[in-house]
Amino acid sequence: MNLEEYKGVYVFAEQVDNKLSGIAFELLGKAKDLAGDLDTYVAAVVIGSEIKGLADELAAHGAEKVIVVDDPELKVYRTEPYAHALSEVINKYKPEIMLVGATAIGRDLGPRVSARVATGLTADCTQLEIGDFPINPVAGKEQKHNQLLMTRPAFGGNTIATIACPDNRPQMATVRPGVMQKIDKIEGAKAEVEEFNPGFTPDNKYVEIMDVVKAVSETVDIMDAKILVSGGRGVGSPENFRILEELAEALGGEVSCSRAVVDNGWKPKDLQVGQTGKTVRPQVYFAIGISGAIQHVAGMEEADVIIAINKDETAPIFDVADYGIVGDLNKIVPELTKQIKAA
Ligand code: FAD
Repeated sequence: MNLEEYKGVYVFAEQVDNKLSGIAFELLGKAKDLAGDLDTYVAAVVIGSEIKGLADELAAHGAEKVIVVDDPELKVYRTEPYAHALSEVINKYKPEIMLVGATAIGRDLGPRVSARVATGLTADCTQLEIGDFPINPVAGKEQKHNQLLMTRPAFGGNTIATIACPDNRPQMATVRPGVMQKIDKIEGAKAEVEEFNPGFTPDNKYVEIMDVVKAVSETVDIMDAKILVSGGRGVGSPENFRILEELAEALGGEVSCSRAVVDNGWKPKDLQVGQTGKTVRPQVYFAIGISGAIQHVAGMEEADVIIAINKDETAPIFDVADYGIVGDLNKIVPELTKQIKAA
């Protein structure tokens, strides 16, 4: 493999129902940084049916080139044709870096594509940067420069691993949604658009989607909320979440929770914050009756302001909190709601 042939930072621009997912913009934001360090370009790959119109939106978020794979058969995500399409894009365009979101679709797609193009994949990354590898050279190991250093939590979040792919291309990663920052929209930006036909065979299309049933949610996605009132095991019962809901309502925010709450069946999984839940970045995050385990903190530490309420003054949540209130949440939360309503 001639590594010199591989150029550009490519992003799989995930779309559902012809609407680009937030992760596409987050990956483009990160790709722009990486491309700046490598002195190369940013490209987006969009796969679907009747999706050419998405190119301008991708350009406005940093894509200089957009590769469009447009086929009626690609209307709904299916593993085999999408994996075939993205693998063939990689074989033709030879990207130096290929980023995919660690979404339900990306987690399915990324490993299959990396296996087909015979490269490695670092899954569920929380940080990406360009640097030297090994970071500290060890005896007999040649240090390579300008490598993609892919960082991800390992062993249940107890350690952080930095991984590189020095001998193969592309360097491939799936990236956690909500971690990377999208760039401000560049009005009027245009990208070079190329249509690509990966040449499907009947084998690529052997799974037929009969029906798509969408979950109907009455609440806002916690990843989009500006204020989150998050409850943990300390809330005590599903009924007692009512006091958190009242606080959230008074503030115009949403309720989220820790994994202990989900494991107890008090709240659904899509409200879980943390390593195996969602990564959130609200303006204000209330951690109420949450101890502050490393796996929880991994999902909320980027909040602008963190306010913790806990009866145990030694709870680790106070190490990451900007403001801490020590005491019984059953007294503090209703009083806080009362004061906010009165203000
Ligand atoms: P606890 O740790 O039991 O804390 C309850 C807190 O409430 C305590 O600090 C207590 O002092 C306080 N409290 C009790 N009563 C009151 C009261 N009346 N007033 C005020 N405070 C009170 N966890 C996540 O949250 N998200 C994840 O994504 C996640 N992923 C994980 C992945 C792996 C691989 C593993 C191993 C674990 C993961 N966990 C995750 C679990 C995590 O380790 C913790 O077990 C969990 O976060 C604890 O939840 P908690 O803080 O609600 O409960």
